Amino acid sequence: MNRREFSRNSVLLGMGALAGFGESGQAMAQNQSGDYYEEPAKKLPVRKFDVVVAGAGTAGVVAAMAAARQGAKTMLIERKGYTGGTVTEGGTALHSFYNLWKAFPGVEKRQVVRGIPQQIIDRLMAIGACSGHAEMVRGYDYDSVCTAIDTELYKLVTMQMLDEAGVFIAVNTLLTGAIMDGSRIRGAIVDSRSGREAIYAKTFVDCSAYGDLAAFAGADYKVPNDYACCNSIGLANVDLDGYVAHLEEHGGSNQLAYGMRSGQPGKVVRFNGGLGGEFSTEARKIGMSSMITTVHDNYLMFVKCDFKVPGSVVNRDDMARAELEVRKRQAKAVELFRKYVPGCEKAFMARTSPTLNIRRGRLITCDYDITLDDVLEGRHFDDDVMAYGFHDSAPRFQVKNGGTYGIPYKAQRVKGIENLLACGMMITSNHDAHMSTRNTVCCMGQGQGAGTAAALCAAKNCGTRDLRYSDLRDALTKADVYFEA
Ligand SMILES: Cc1cc2nc3c(=O)[nH]c(=O)nc-3n(C[C@H](O)[C@H](O)[C@H](O)COP(=O)(O)OP(=O)(O)OC[C@H]3O[C@@H](n4cnc5c(N)ncnc54)[C@H](O)[C@@H]3O)c2cc1C
Repeated sequence: MNRREFSRNSVLLGMGALAGFGESGQAMAQNQSGDYYEEPAKKLPVRKFDVVVAGAGTAGVVAAMAAARQGAKTMLIERKGYTGGTVTEGGTALHSFYNLWKAFPGVEKRQVVRGIPQQIIDRLMAIGACSGHAEMVRGYDYDSVCTAIDTELYKLVTMQMLDEAGVFIAVNTLLTGAIMDGSRIRGAIVDSRSGREAIYAKTFVDCSAYGDLAAFAGADYKVPNDYACCNSIGLANVDLDGYVAHLEEHGGSNQLAYGMRSGQPGKVVRFNGGLGGEFSTEARKIGMSSMITTVHDNYLMFVKCDFKVPGSVVNRDDMARAELEVRKRQAKAVELFRKYVPGCEKAFMARTSPTLNIRRGRLITCDYDITLDDVLEGRHFDDDVMAYGFHDSAPRFQVKNGGTYGIPYKAQRVKGIENLLACGMMITSNHDAHMSTRNTVCCMGQGQGAGTAAALCAAKNCGTRDLRYSDLRDALTKADVYFEA
């Protein structure tokens, strides 16, 4: 289905709901004709909010907290039963709260992402669910710190913080459409076991990673399919110290950081688990990589199995084949660990992600598109919502002089839609620029920017383009967001 057909379906669905057609959701035989079934229109119950955030993932939890803390009546819509998104499912360390100071001697160490993202870390630290910002002692031309988390407790902590902020949390709820009023979104359509509902709001923030809300609203988008998809394994019943000792005897790991692990400071929390030899040859065949972080003595995360989808990452059937292929690869990956890695002879797969992750689904067109030059030159804008200093392809690409660049508010405004902001992995078209903006901590910071802006727009009853930047900047500064320009 192309973009136009996709959005027309969602808009018609919304118009049907507004026009108040028949109430029955039951199939009517006379509507069945040939290859198509005409769905009967029905009246949907309406709920009203100031701000709706679609997707309770990396960016979404922060966006919803930020909006609610500004006083906006906020709803957060999440298709899974928990909050946290890809932070809890895909990655290893949270990159990165700091500038790359260690790679640039003489450059000042700066924590460049603070605010709500740091508050989440503080809460995790208080319950022993984070390594802390552990300084890299090897591989610091890639990142200065490693911040590893207990992914299960991340889900709990973020949900508790959302609850404390007064966010209406709708988990197990799928966003399935948009109700349009010209170029303004009037509402989102959601489906859950409580039925189908129309959720009205003044301002919307799309944090669904795939840009589902933006696509339903008719925004312009592409599906670049420029990354492999992946499912990540948490491996338990391992002797971590035995594994690391073996690595050290055989050439060592090119990344190393010491931090909090099982309640003890000064423990290895990050290393490159590649062993070389036959292990690596076999690992390559299944797209396996093993950059490992951990916060527990006998558990490591994440062993990743990559697979490049030969079709489209928004096609259900292509993705179903990929889900099966990756599950086969995961089983093989555990076999390899048991066979080749000392300390992992009795390892087992303790967790996998409920669905494949990908580093990019849809790319949503916004008012501004951050370029690779912006990132590498450390460019700041007159409407920055945050500063960021990490690049996932370092040391090949690094932000100039260990500095930072800015994420501008205009890069979050979805083009052509009056009251929709986007954040997370769905923005930034250039692949190499995206290799920076899509990282977890950048997504979290973007969430605080967009959630705050959405709340201010709702309070002032204005479109996202009519918000005075000075108001946004003041609110973000008061909420401990760090700016460099
Ligand atoms: C395999 C992998 C490894 C990575 N490794 C790292 C790493 O080590 N360090 C790092 O910093 N970054 C890493 N990244 C990048 C980073 O994790 C992601 O780019 C980032 O987490 C994306 O955040 P997001 O908020 O855009 O999306 P997500 O965190 O994915 O959140 C989107 C949320 O929206 C929900 N959603 C989607 N559609 C709907 C719908 N229609 N209705 C309701 N809910 C919906 C989803 O369930 C999800 O919870 C990795 C990414 C992947 C895929």
